[in-house]
Amino acid sequence: MIEPLKKKLASQGIHTLLAQFTDVHGVAKGKYVPLDKLEELVCVGAGFAGPSIWGTALPRIGPRAEYYARANENHILPLPWMPGYAWAVCSGYVDGQPFDACPRQVLQRATARLAQRGWTLKTGIEPEFFLLKHEQGQWLPADDGDRLDKPSYDLRSLPRQAGFLHELNGVLRAWGLDVLQLDHEDAHGQFEVNFAFDEALASADHVMGFKLAAHALAEARGMVFSMMPKPFANQPGSGLHFHVSLWDAQGANVFEPNATQRGTDTPVSELGRQFMAGVLAHSTALCALAAPTVNSYKRLTVGESLSGTTWAPAYVAHGPNNRTATLRSLPGRFEWRLPDASANPYLATAALIAAGLDGIDRGLELGPACTEDLFKLSLGEIAARGIAVLPQSLNDAVTALEADAVVCEALGPTLAAEFLRLKRDEWLAYARHVSGWELARYAATF
Ligand code: GLU
Ligand code: MG
Repeated sequence: MIEPLKKKLASQGIHTLLAQFTDVHGVAKGKYVPLDKLEELVCVGAGFAGPSIWGTALPRIGPRAEYYARANENHILPLPWMPGYAWAVCSGYVDGQPFDACPRQVLQRATARLAQRGWTLKTGIEPEFFLLKHEQGQWLPADDGDRLDKPSYDLRSLPRQAGFLHELNGVLRAWGLDVLQLDHEDAHGQFEVNFAFDEALASADHVMGFKLAAHALAEARGMVFSMMPKPFANQPGSGLHFHVSLWDAQGANVFEPNATQRGTDTPVSELGRQFMAGVLAHSTALCALAAPTVNSYKRLTVGESLSGTTWAPAYVAHGPNNRTATLRSLPGRFEWRLPDASANPYLATAALIAAGLDGIDRGLELGPACTEDLFKLSLGEIAARGIAVLPQSLNDAVTALEADAVVCEALGPTLAAEFLRLKRDEWLAYARHVSGWELARYAATF
């Protein structure tokens, strides 16, 4: 098996593999491995000092100190912008066993739970991102001319990034992704690239590959590719929406509505409704994984935001084609609008699966569909409709996660504990920092 693959890669001019795994923060890590060590990379893995990787909690000594990133031989793809190199997506192993706190393994455990019931979750993940520059200590859109009052679908600025977007499109297509659309989003310097939906693990891998490519291609053009959720307070932030459907062994979408359901405000099957109800029931805990940074909560704001309409949901609700709610229902699927660009796609998907399965297992009933523009309602009106508000800080989201046994169990005890510890530290570091805003407001005031 390995020899033909090695020969094929060599014939493509590949001499080095980029063995890449993903840390708890959703950041790609790895090392170079010469092609002639392919067999070892696939069968054993490339070794890393375990405690040097965020979120592993591995010891400094002993057999469990080594983290092995083991490649999947079906997922080794040439890096078009780095001739001679190929990207090998890896999962973590420790002491010869799948490592329970590897985010990719966490998602594999979640999809295995679905597989036991004959189901496959499919996701279409939509990355929004900024192209920035860092000048004289300031972060700015890379393109100075990108400054329309309403930048959505800006056709003046889009052509100025056509070179970058075309290269990115080329890489994704070379990897077999069906690229659907590339557009300018609603903030200066903000874009979105859409590619076709796929099985949950493949989609999460695609997001990691997308980030790998976008970082490299932007850097080559002197720009910084940013998945920070909300770089500018007065502009919308970047979401990472998930379009979600569930398929059976015969290849049928089990969220597909029947004739009666199709005409309703929630055009999904009963199973789909239960799954959605589970996602809503666990929304506060899901926030910690879908919106995992301090900055995420500047995107998920309720009430008046500095950027006007953000299209980011702050309310636990669902509605037909309703972009102001956490879940936007569409025929045979729903869009989970909560995740932002900083989410680890493996962990966010695993948590989504756990929440949805809990909804199915408990036969949860989906509340009434929301057919109003939630951004137009006051907080009092929202409360009067019994609609809950999502956590408004990382601290609140982490507290909700800690209290949610279903989602924590999906992460596994090691990763859950590490995630909670790291995120509490992140919150504390932020809370204790004295910002320019505070100095400007208070230094000479009292
Ligand atoms: N940028 C928005 C967000 O943060 C979403 C805009 C859209 O729906 O495309 O979720
Ligand atoms: Mg968008």
